[in-house]
Amino acid sequence: MGFLDRWLDSLPDEPEEIEDDWELDEDEELEQLAVDVSEPRECIYKSFADDPGPCLRCGERLEQSAQPYLVATRRGKRITDSFITGSDFGWFCTNCPTVVIDPDDVDEMLQHPMSGWDVGEEFTVVGLIDLDAIPEDKQHLPLGDDDNPIPLVEFTSISDAEEVGRRSQRRKRGKTSSDSEKGKRRRRRRRR
Ligand SMILES: [Zn+2]
Repeated sequence: MGFLDRWLDSLPDEPEEIEDDWELDEDEELEQLAVDVSEPRECIYKSFADDPGPCLRCGERLEQSAQPYLVATRRGKRITDSFITGSDFGWFCTNCPTVVIDPDDVDEMLQHPMSGWDVGEEFTVVGLIDLDAIPEDKQHLPLGDDDNPIPLVEFTSISDAEEVGRRSQRRKRGKTSSDSEKGKRRRRRRRR
């Protein structure tokens, strides 16, 4: 028997067995965090050196993952630009819908802008881009076209690590948090 015959012979007859093989592969991949970008999540800005530590909301482990984001910049009250960037600045909670981002990492990225970006004075990471949500027949169109809107999954809230700490203290005292953080949502960029 030649190689091809042996190979064909070794293939399982039952389609179920093939599916089993696939499941095995998926199990192996589960050890890495599979980020469901379509899930709306809270974004927390936190400055850290190497590792952001545990999740600020639930205390579980955070894992770094490269994902596409929509970043908007502004100068004064004017949005200067918005752009999609794939980056690994996000650390995703393995338990709850939270992503921790070091604003210094975003700032660093904006120090080396692609040509044509207007990086403005301040930035905000608006949300994640769910590339899987783009219909197959629209995938050849430029993202952001009238016919092909950006599948943005906006963050449900954006806050600083210190605010999250204060909020959870307020919760402990039985008061609900309000949207008072809204005015402070955008992070002022450091001038260099
Ligand atoms: Zn969490």
